[in-house]
Amino acid sequence: MQALIDIDQLDLYYGDFQALKKVSLDIPEKAITAFIGPSGCGKSTLLRTLNRMNDMIPGTRIEGSIKVSGKDIYSSDVDVETLRKKVGMVFQQPNPFPKSIYDNVAYGPRLHGIADKQRLDEIVESSLRAAVLWDEVKDHLKRSALGISGGQQQRLCIARALAVEPDVLLMDESTSALDPISTLKIEELAQELKKRYTIVMVTHNMHQAARVSNQTVFFLNGEVIEYAETEKLFSNP
Ligand code: ADP
Ligand code: ADP
Repeated sequence: MQALIDIDQLDLYYGDFQALKKVSLDIPEKAITAFIGPSGCGKSTLLRTLNRMNDMIPGTRIEGSIKVSGKDIYSSDVDVETLRKKVGMVFQQPNPFPKSIYDNVAYGPRLHGIADKQRLDEIVESSLRAAVLWDEVKDHLKRSALGISGGQQQRLCIARALAVEPDVLLMDESTSALDPISTLKIEELAQELKKRYTIVMVTHNMHQAARVSNQTVFFLNGEVIEYAETEKLFSNP
């Protein structure tokens, strides 16, 4: 598997507290990498370093490097907005904006200057199709996003992330607030999306990591204690 992201000797401090310790890791392109481990071991923290969301937490300091396609994303000439456009994120709780379904998906493209109605229509449709939500919402795109089910809202959040054409999709326990059927739908969707995107998902569910990921990374107390191809980890010798 070809690495897209290369993390080398990464330390992260929240003030005096060290949340990541000498993390070195390759994340392969167009595959699903699962971060697994107990609560508080640094999974979300590492995920948030990949689109520099940690920049928003005052007192956070990092050492070491993260390269995406060979380019250090913490070097001074990196434009954080451009980086965030390339690295979309989906959170634990579905968090659609209190706007219409259409406006949720069109939000990112509009932010990046796309105003043409026909172009926006195309992006909204293709993003909703990619998130396997189009058929369920195509007849009421003007309705509030808050009126659809939790599972649909989470697929809408995925569509919203895809609408700006990212390379990487980060999923932070994106199924843990959902019922089992909605969870399976998102897992199937992730399998489909990995053909086009590099996916990193935080999960505390070993079965989910075994079901969907190509690579599994085990965390404990801020350290990566093991990582390998999922097939090798979970196959019986
Ligand atoms: P989760 O288990 O879903 O990661 P947490 O309760 O650990 O939820 O964290 C919720 C939010 O609070 C996160 O944004 C995290 O960054 C922040 N947080 C967690 N621990 C601390 C802490 N010790 N001090 C300040 N913020 C924290
Ligand atoms: P996980 O995702 O594995 O549950 P986190 O990355 O959320 O773990 O948290 C790792 C450690 O960092 C925890 O001890 C947590 O309390 C702490 N932490 C997380 N966010 C913050 C924050 N904003 N400020 C201070 N400590 C934090």
